[in-house]
Amino acid sequence: MIYETWTPDETRAIGKQIGENAKPGEVYLLDGDLGVGKTVFVQGVADGLLIQGPVNSPTFTILQVYEEGRIPFYHFDVYRIADIDEMDEIGYEDYFFGDGVCFIEWAELIEEILPKDCKQIRIEKDLNKGFDYRKITIQS
Ligand code: ADP
Ligand code: MG
Repeated sequence: MIYETWTPDETRAIGKQIGENAKPGEVYLLDGDLGVGKTVFVQGVADGLLIQGPVNSPTFTILQVYEEGRIPFYHFDVYRIADIDEMDEIGYEDYFFGDGVCFIEWAELIEEILPKDCKQIRIEKDLNKGFDYRKITIQS
């Protein structure tokens, strides 16, 4: 599926739909350049999962766990990962194969440990269509 958005709220709304339908055990990979809207999308997902608190990029922690929603929500941002061992240290398998849903910003950086049947989300800009335009491609 390809979606196009022109505002952050539209991107959040698409994330929300995904969050409303997300199921335990699903792993979503989010790729796209810095500042493209991955975290904005994830904020919508959290909303769809009925998580109240603020959701920001866990850039300095790799993983942020939210237990208060409809199902557990595991938000990874692996942008600053230096070594794949850091994923072992946080016990990533408990989350990837757990009873919540995972969203992984910058998933391409940890390709070697990703499960086989992930859902892929790519967000891209196209400056010809305006500064706030985003193309969101979702493959399941
Ligand atoms: P990332 O997590 O990919 O690094 P963020 O979600 O943190 O990016 O930031 C995206 C930025 O782009 C925000 O400042 C947001 O307001 C802005 N933005 C502008 N237009 C859009 C859009 N259509 N969708 C998502 N974000 C947008
Ligand atoms: Mg981010």
